[in-house]
Amino acid sequence: MQYKEYGKTGKKVSVIGFGGMRFRKEDYKSGSLEKCAQVVRRASELGVNYFDTAPFYCDDTSEDIMGEAFKDMPNPFYVSTKSMLNYESTADAVRRRIEKSLKRMGLQKITFFNMWCILNLNQYRKVMAPGGPYEGALKAKEEGLIEHIVFSTHCNGEEIQTIVNEGYFEGVTLGYNATNFAFRQKGIKAAYEKGLGVVTMNPLGGGIIPQNEDFYSFLKENEYDSVVQAALKFNASHKEITVVLPGMGTIEEVEENVKSGENFREMTEERLNEMAKKLNESLDALCTGCQYCKGCPKDIEIPKYMDAYNMRILKKPDKEVNNRLKYHWGINKKKAAECIACGKCEELCTQHLPIIERLKYIANL
Ligand code: SF4
Ligand code: SF4
Repeated sequence: MQYKEYGKTGKKVSVIGFGGMRFRKEDYKSGSLEKCAQVVRRASELGVNYFDTAPFYCDDTSEDIMGEAFKDMPNPFYVSTKSMLNYESTADAVRRRIEKSLKRMGLQKITFFNMWCILNLNQYRKVMAPGGPYEGALKAKEEGLIEHIVFSTHCNGEEIQTIVNEGYFEGVTLGYNATNFAFRQKGIKAAYEKGLGVVTMNPLGGGIIPQNEDFYSFLKENEYDSVVQAALKFNASHKEITVVLPGMGTIEEVEENVKSGENFREMTEERLNEMAKKLNESLDALCTGCQYCKGCPKDIEIPKYMDAYNMRILKKPDKEVNNRLKYHWGINKKKAAECIACGKCEELCTQHLPIIERLKYIANL
């Protein structure tokens, strides 16, 4: 397992982290959390030292599972958890959340505390407002209950740049993978240049990559890697990325994923461009998230709608398109109906996608 410096925190973290959002329901509903805890401990045995969890993951049991595992961890570890503006909108509420998380995990201190799921700059301002969530986290940090305040986000690159440049955070957790990398380039670069740790969630594109192995076989640099391993290495190989965070629910998944934490070569601009080209060739009906279509007169966030429509291209049911819009991007499908078919975006689209038709489809879902 390779380890990287997490920004300027002085902490060395495993390039493969443990995402605590994919424990098996049959395991945690069985009346004992031990089976799930064993998955966590196996990751620790194999060199993983970054463990990410959150309230509400796995029917709100993920932090409890971590707590069970932490009673008997084979190696030292760092933990990341979160609070979300929608649930904890004040400093006091964040303080209560931190106390609850500490209690559930049996810890004295949380290493990385995320201001969770900042969707846009408006939400960021609310997080930072006097008496708001950031203030609660800062106070907890001063009291030694948390070590580092970070943020997790689905913002675009420019918005991430704005947030990191304001200088309040030591790290960022964001979605980055072989499907959406064009969308997040600016963000990871800005964070890296500013000295933040960069944790990438959703490295398998929400399951899209392993479910479409043929499409994504171009990621493989050698015949021994599975597509999953190749996709994790894709993220790990970026110098800007500190931790890759696949969700893990079984010991087999842990054992497969940790193998991606070594034997990868550093990503170059040239290789990234080559991959973007291959992605365009093999998946020419997919939105790559490049954002050239921005500037809709009706303020439709086209890349987000087209990203959700990608689910359909990849043969997912419509429910997945809806879920992507609602839960991942936090936007309403009804907005798609406001398109006036001016055609401006289609002229700009690097993939020549029928955006108007797709928006119509989404609006009628
Ligand atoms: S065609 Fe529709 S989505 Fe595209 S720019 Fe015009 S109004 Fe916006
Ligand atoms: S719709 Fe086209 S231009 Fe817009 S982000 Fe997707 S691929 Fe890029």
